[in-house]
Amino acid sequence: MRINLEGKRALVAGVADDVGFGFHIAKALAEAGARVTVAIWPPAMKIFETLLRRGKMDESRRLSDGSLLEFERLYPLDAVYDTMQDVPAEVRSNRRYSERGDFTIQGLADALKADFGQNPVDIVVHSLANGPEVYKPLLNTSRAGYLAAVSASAYSLVSLVQRLAPLMAPGGSFASLTYLASERTIARYGGGMAAAKAALEADTRYLSLEVGRRYGLRINTISAGPLATRAASVTGVINEIVEHYAQSSPLPKPLHAMDVANTVAFLASPLASAITGSTLYVDNGYHSVGKSLGPGDLDWVLGKNDLA
Ligand code: NAD
Repeated sequence: MRINLEGKRALVAGVADDVGFGFHIAKALAEAGARVTVAIWPPAMKIFETLLRRGKMDESRRLSDGSLLEFERLYPLDAVYDTMQDVPAEVRSNRRYSERGDFTIQGLADALKADFGQNPVDIVVHSLANGPEVYKPLLNTSRAGYLAAVSASAYSLVSLVQRLAPLMAPGGSFASLTYLASERTIARYGGGMAAAKAALEADTRYLSLEVGRRYGLRINTISAGPLATRAASVTGVINEIVEHYAQSSPLPKPLHAMDVANTVAFLASPLASAITGSTLYVDNGYHSVGKSLGPGDLDWVLGKNDLA
């Protein structure tokens, strides 16, 4: 039994380099046979296009059959804006935005329809987040910073689903990425980002009911273990968190972006046709740990001392 996404088109929103989850998700979906389009934050778009054109990502783009991951389209997307009416003048006139046309969520939906017709996508992945005050404890977070985190990281999913679900045929699906900070305290993950992830998970449950009943679509979110990406490095402690997970998880191996990406491909496939509204942990089991292993604990776990 294989994951087969042949004949499907996927949109991955939140790709800006070949390190983050988004790129690997695009790769996994392509490995399964899907055609892949990506949506890129306008300030990051030029550099991504340049890296792509100059072949700097060719090694990472290599698929198992030797071919290179191809993107059918690269769309600009700033997911904090639903329509161009929402965009402040200083953003519109910014050079990195002004040359991109309509970079809003509605603009993305319109462009997909214009490029690919009535049912332009089957699989939509939200792999983006931003919290301008993520480095601040909640007690030091401003209202504007908190709301910006929720807007970019949680409402962006709601808006994407509002605008794309009506364009998708039954059987299609959405996926997003969340983090354990939604339900446990993780020091240094501040600025309202934990609330944004909690909202993302609650919204996934609500949206599953609504898109399931209205459109026959599914939606899930993956609670991923830590990965040293550009977004995660903003916390300043990502390497420490990665190390802590490796020491404390049931599976003491590093988490690879492809572990998460392959799960997204599974969730998008007919093999997962009864899974919706779920938060699925892909974190080497860390979420289930109540106490990290202390001195002597591993011997006990391995049954090597008298107490076992
Ligand atoms: P990343 O930096 O590769 O991806 C984040 C992406 O969001 C970037 O491409 C960035 O350009 C984009 N983005 C930021 N603001 C945007 C906006 N307003 N509009 C459109 N795009 C915007 O980092 P990542 O860690 O791969 O993050 C992907 C997802 O994974 C995020 O939801 C993140 O919270 C989640 N996640 C990450 C980790 C981790 O440890 N890295 C763990 C769990 C969940």
